[in-house]
Order: sequence, then structure tokens, then C-alpha cells
Amino acid sequence: MSNIQSVRPLNAPAVSARVLWTAVGAVVLLLLLAYLVAFDQGAISQSGMYLHELMHDGRHLLGVPCH
Ligand SMILES: [Zn+2]
Repeated sequence: MSNIQSVRPLNAPAVSARVLWTAVGAVVLLLLLAYLVAFDQGAISQSGMYLHELMHDGRHLLGVPCH
């Protein structure tokens, strides 16, 4: 007969803080990347047309309207 014991204490959180903050950081980075690729153009652009031209082919591959 086996004696199965839980490794995690009963009051420990199911998701550790490190995993949570890693996920939050990944979401923030992905949103920043999406902003750079898809939305940094026009009146609110911080980089002029340089970033638009740099990302132009990727923008078309993603189906983002640009012109
Ligand atoms: Zn284009």
C-alpha cells in the first residue's frame, strides 16, 4: 500500500507570485509589441514614419490596415 503525501502545504497559493508576475510581464511586453507593430502610426505616433516603414511588411502579413 502506498502512502501518497501532498508536497504543497494546504495553505499555499495555487499559483506562485513568480509565475503570476512572469505572466503579467509577458502580457505587457506582448501589448507593447502589438502597439509597435500595429498602432504606432498617424497622429499619435512617437516615432514618425520610421517605425511604420520598419514594420511595414510585418504589418501587411498580420493584416493590419496601414494605407
Ligand atoms: Zn502598407
